Amino acid sequence: MSNHHKILPADPKASYLAAQVEIDAAIKRVMLSGQYILGPELEAFEKEFTAWLGTAGTVGVANGTDAIELALLAAGIGPGDKVVTVANTVTATVSAIIATGAKPVFVDIEPGTMLMDVAALEAMLTQLRDPKIKAVVPVHLYGQAADMPRLMELAARHSLFVMEDCAQAHGAVVGGKKAGAWGQLASFSFYPTKNLAAFGDAGAVTGRDMALLEKVRLLRQYGWRKRYVSDHHGRNSRLDELQAAILRVQLTRLEAGNRRRNEIAGQYLAALKDTPLKLPVITEGCTHTWHQFVIRTPRRDELQVHMAKKDIVCGVLYPMPIHRQPAYHDASLSLPHTEQACTEVLSLPLPPGLTNDDVARVAREVKVFFGLA
Ligand SMILES: *Cc1c(COP(=O)(O)O)cnc(C)c1O
Repeated sequence: MSNHHKILPADPKASYLAAQVEIDAAIKRVMLSGQYILGPELEAFEKEFTAWLGTAGTVGVANGTDAIELALLAAGIGPGDKVVTVANTVTATVSAIIATGAKPVFVDIEPGTMLMDVAALEAMLTQLRDPKIKAVVPVHLYGQAADMPRLMELAARHSLFVMEDCAQAHGAVVGGKKAGAWGQLASFSFYPTKNLAAFGDAGAVTGRDMALLEKVRLLRQYGWRKRYVSDHHGRNSRLDELQAAILRVQLTRLEAGNRRRNEIAGQYLAALKDTPLKLPVITEGCTHTWHQFVIRTPRRDELQVHMAKKDIVCGVLYPMPIHRQPAYHDASLSLPHTEQACTEVLSLPLPPGLTNDDVARVAREVKVFFGLA
């Protein structure tokens, strides 16, 4: 059989090759500059990212998990506090909340979009009336933003701090504003498989609140305002010059990459419409950035094996909700929509470098599985 190369769920090397000349030049520029930590590249990236997103400022940090933790710490979240989030997310969201000393509280998701159910959040807040609940961390999963207009209104009524986890939503738009421009603060990850990707670890805190961002800036380097003098207890969570220089190149290519992902998603949606699959639900008026193209079927495990046999690697985000994982197990908690989603979701590959032939091959194999091709 011809054209039978392996299709990967994400392909960071392909994204390097697509921008190789510019990335190599950026790397060389940093290497010859003699400055490798907290220099002009990071400063420039922070400005460019802020301008692109439409926030007040950005602070580069070591990774997306630190970004969540430092944003919450800057807002004063800590021991004795509770932070509401979802259980269908990467462990990072929850481990960052716990690292602040706060306790995560889980709310269920909307069955269609699989994003935080704001109505369920409202019911929970009204029912619990728990003054320990201080913050909410919506996760803009798969590339689509949660219902931020409603969430911000609800948070204001309950005096909750809002920290958006935007690790999968670089460029997603809801209610006419980008994800990350709604909450007081927002976190991003630039892990190599994200839509905006470094080639190593990197992350950022951004947002509307300059005073809180200034606090994050101190916390990322030992709480120093003046060198060697800590005003606050901080740590080392810096984004290095090499990754910052690479991210500046990647940022100029982000919108084109998102457009290509959108094309691929359109091809999948058209090709798979007459299958027994539940296809992604796109909220009207929102821009989906297609970090993941997630289909749902009760036969998920079988389908994943079938695709793998055909050299098409499909990921599962996520196979087990946080409250069912050994480290965070809570037998008393039931989140029916979250639990069901975790048994059914499967991501079809959509790195922007995929050709239309690759996309057709993936869709054909899904149809073969259902006896439709
Ligand atoms: C990737 C990711 C993170 C963590 O980012 P790291 O840079 O790997 O620490 C957090 N939340 C979500 C939703 C993610 O997808």
